[in-house]
Amino acid sequence: MELAAEALEKGDEPFGSVLVSAGGEVLAEGHNEVASGDQTRHPEFELARWSATHLTPEERAGATVYTSGEHCPMCAAAHAWVGLGRIVYAASSQQLSAWLSELGVPPSPVRTLPVHEVAPGVTVEGPAAELTDQVHALHRRFHQKQP
Ligand SMILES: [Zn+2]
Repeated sequence: MELAAEALEKGDEPFGSVLVSAGGEVLAEGHNEVASGDQTRHPEFELARWSATHLTPEERAGATVYTSGEHCPMCAAAHAWVGLGRIVYAASSQQLSAWLSELGVPPSPVRTLPVHEVAPGVTVEGPAAELTDQVHALHRRFHQKQP
């Protein structure tokens, strides 16, 4: 949630993710950097690629990605391709889609799908009801600033 807020402060979409080892150690973290103009700069995608370079297959399988928003299909695919373990998200893609629609944001060019539709072997937990309002507020703040 802090990384998502940090992204928002930098003028980017409020999404943040943390990669945690099986032993509970924070290995890497990131937030959206699509304001650069590269719409693939999602933190979940970056973490998947980071893990492929820095972790063994066993370490990847035992790791968990905690993320403010459920992985999009691109990131879910990357997560599964590199063999990462569990995903724990605060807000679901379905919740996010509903919020963005209410805010009048045009639909994305990529269809919204739950992670299990893209990567059926990945264990997924979420949404986290206690964080829903916070995530919703971050997205309202981001999109209401737009013209
Ligand atoms: Zn993504």
